[in-house]
Amino acid sequence: MMSKEDPYVVLGVSREASADDLKKAYRKLAMQYHPDRNPGDHAAETRFKQVNEAYDILKDEQKRAAFDRFGHAAFEGGGPGAGGFSGFGGGGLGDIFEQMFGDMMGGGRGGGGRARSGGDIRAQVEISLTEAFTGTKAPVRVQTRIACEHCDGTGSETKDRAADLCPTCGGAGKVRAQQGFFLVERACPTCGGAGRKIRNPCTVCRGAGTVARERTLQVAIPAGVEDGTRIRLAGEGEAGGAGVSAGDLYVHVSVREHDIFQRDGANIFCRVPVRMAQAALGGEIEVPVIDGSRTKVKIPAGTQSGHQLRLRGKGFSVLRSAARGDMYIQVAVETPRALSKRQRELLEEFDTEAKDAPGSHTDSEGFFAKVRDFFDGR
Ligand SMILES: [Zn+2]
Ligand SMILES: [Zn+2]
Repeated sequence: MMSKEDPYVVLGVSREASADDLKKAYRKLAMQYHPDRNPGDHAAETRFKQVNEAYDILKDEQKRAAFDRFGHAAFEGGGPGAGGFSGFGGGGLGDIFEQMFGDMMGGGRGGGGRARSGGDIRAQVEISLTEAFTGTKAPVRVQTRIACEHCDGTGSETKDRAADLCPTCGGAGKVRAQQGFFLVERACPTCGGAGRKIRNPCTVCRGAGTVARERTLQVAIPAGVEDGTRIRLAGEGEAGGAGVSAGDLYVHVSVREHDIFQRDGANIFCRVPVRMAQAALGGEIEVPVIDGSRTKVKIPAGTQSGHQLRLRGKGFSVLRSAARGDMYIQVAVETPRALSKRQRELLEEFDTEAKDAPGSHTDSEGFFAKVRDFFDGR
């Protein structure tokens, strides 16, 4: 379908624009809105189509004259003309694409087609928490399609490229059909717009231009990466075949749980058991740090179970930054088990003292005072 936009407006040129002006305006806009430069942007895609349609009309003297006289009505109604298809070679859309996008598409034959790309592939990589802290290079095995080496990705056994040009359109990918007093352009029905018709398919890839291959890539994982992060490697996806750019590789990173450390964003939590007497008397404990070092932490006398001690700057690395979060030591007071006779005697003696010493177990005292109030109130 033709868009109803005025092609002069779409290309931003005057009614008197020369063929050269048109070509310049078209190239600039086509480059700007090309789908490869605007992946997933539907507005850009629509604009790209409009630009192509506008140029299709204005670059052709007959069509331009028809549009000038009748507007879009000139192109409405009527099926394919009786004149049949005729190939057109020099100056066709295909040639302009070749000039414009030849480099971008790896020098391949564009024919009349648009620049497409090979499929994206996904891969999974699992790393440890310490690797996530330091960053690492992880090997990622991917099943992918690469350009066939036998035919250089052309899909053709014949080295003579000219032999594979589509006989109907001569490689342009588009044909003109006579319709009344002007010609209408459409995708070539023989090659579907590709401009090529492989006569003698490659014996290795059977004409596809790509072959399946397993590759191992070393993927750089940045320090501070989080579980579930997706890393995109542009152009490492499937080869697209003849004259088509490769897709992208998406690596999904999962981070294994650690035996000692739990991570929450840039902070790290570490539960450290502390002996009952140690928690009561106070002292110093040595704790591990995610960077592989150790550090000493003072436990104040009377530390309760569940108390958190903060160690500034000993936490996790922050992505794309030299900063680090904090580490929290969560004290877990351990009640002794399997007591020796001597331990039992000492504890019994201690408990006798503690029972009659107000202020040594303030939580218990407070709690039982409330329990008394509860029963008295009934
Ligand atoms: Zn063709
Ligand atoms: Zn091949």
